[in-house]
Amino acid sequence: MLKDEDRIFTNLYGMHERTLKGARARGHWDNTADLIGKGRDWIVETMKSSGLRGRGGAGFPTGLKWSFMPKESDGRPHYLVVNADESEPGTCKDREIMRHDPHTLIEGCLIASFAMGANNCYIYIRGEYIREREALQAAIDEAYDAGLLGKNAAGSGWDFDLYLTHGAGAYICGEETSLLESLEGRKGMPRMKPPFPAGAGLYGCPTTVNNVESIAVVPTILRRGGEWFASFGRPNNAGTKVFAISGHVERPCVVEEEMSISFEELIERHCGGIRGGWDNLKAVIPGGASVPLLPGATAREAIMDFDWLREQKSGLGTAAVIVMDQSCDVIKAIWRLSKFYKHESCGQCTPCREGTGWMMRVMDRLVTGEAEPAEIDMLLDVTKQVEGHTICALGDAAAWPIQGLIRHFRDEIEDRIAHKRKGRSPAIAAE
Ligand code: NAD
Ligand code: SF4
Repeated sequence: MLKDEDRIFTNLYGMHERTLKGARARGHWDNTADLIGKGRDWIVETMKSSGLRGRGGAGFPTGLKWSFMPKESDGRPHYLVVNADESEPGTCKDREIMRHDPHTLIEGCLIASFAMGANNCYIYIRGEYIREREALQAAIDEAYDAGLLGKNAAGSGWDFDLYLTHGAGAYICGEETSLLESLEGRKGMPRMKPPFPAGAGLYGCPTTVNNVESIAVVPTILRRGGEWFASFGRPNNAGTKVFAISGHVERPCVVEEEMSISFEELIERHCGGIRGGWDNLKAVIPGGASVPLLPGATAREAIMDFDWLREQKSGLGTAAVIVMDQSCDVIKAIWRLSKFYKHESCGQCTPCREGTGWMMRVMDRLVTGEAEPAEIDMLLDVTKQVEGHTICALGDAAAWPIQGLIRHFRDEIEDRIAHKRKGRSPAIAAE
């Protein structure tokens, strides 16, 4: 359980001023030049020792990713790109950081860019985040006026420019290489990896793409120490984490907590419990739409971190926790996600372009009960044809929620088909 004094995001609820004055009062921009003065190696090693794993969803170790950037310049500029295209259904944690604590992110951009030899950084923000864009731009302007950005940024001797650019509503532009394509002015379509961005990223130059939360925690980790951050959570699952909890809880919220907190404690402490009590819990998606759901009994035992949830064939993902009570039609919930992935597929590779359509059309029949019983296994088979056979993770993301539904709620699907065959209307029909 995280104590108040251990919170990194002290203005997550917008209770204080988000301006530079307010940020300074909360300890941000405090001797930033001294941190930079400790050198690139010290920064990267401290980030490695913190155990921070990327907060965008995949959990790749942040310090390790930074270490892939070439140490010496071969004449090409280096770039840091911050992925603020937060679009995973259920996910709204970065939104709160950018709205209420923008200076934490901006200071992190300067320090992280210095550590990777980048004089320029782009923040690519989701197009729909209009208020957040305004808040962030106002904070960037303030930082320029105060000499914290630009030539000799914050008196560090490092010249650094920060640009804010926005997407236009395509979910796929949150995939890092698609985001780079979009930044370059092209249609946002994922590139094959490798090469990873550290080798050939923005304009073919060494680039690191990091999530907003991953960068925003950097200044505090450097000030308090890698060991301090690593002291939270279980081994390999270190740190504090911002969770976005929605659905059938008494009080949905966004909250920073200790990694590896139990699901029960997270919900009891911050959300006032499950609507209608714990016996009313039916299912939980623990990490945003891309990860398979868990049945209520398993979720109640859950430890909210990368490794525990992966062992359950689910994942921490973006830590967007979607809670469903007994009133929820889980088949319909997953059917709705299938529609989303079908709509957002960029169409570049066949298993995803065709597979998302196939999966959605079978889900159309499952949700109304009009499918043949054999279609359940056929659908599972299609998900396996898509999984792991696509250019980017969207194919997996479309397949996994359906796999989770069939794994845990096959009875409910079969009952619906049987019910329909007896000539009765299904409980809930597709829209
Ligand atoms: P990934 O595992 O392919 O990569 C994660 C990061 O590690 C990338 O930056 C990648 O470049 C780097 N990486 C991985 N292997 C590497 C290697 N061998 N060498 C160098 N770098 C390497 O995952 P991804 O496709 O970037 O992300 C998928 C995740 O995104 C999903 O788990 C999902 O939870 C999440 N997601 C988040 C949102 C959101 O709104 N935040 C939206 C959609 C998906
Ligand atoms: Fe496009 Fe889907 Fe292929 Fe990703 S997996 S590149 S979204 S078609």
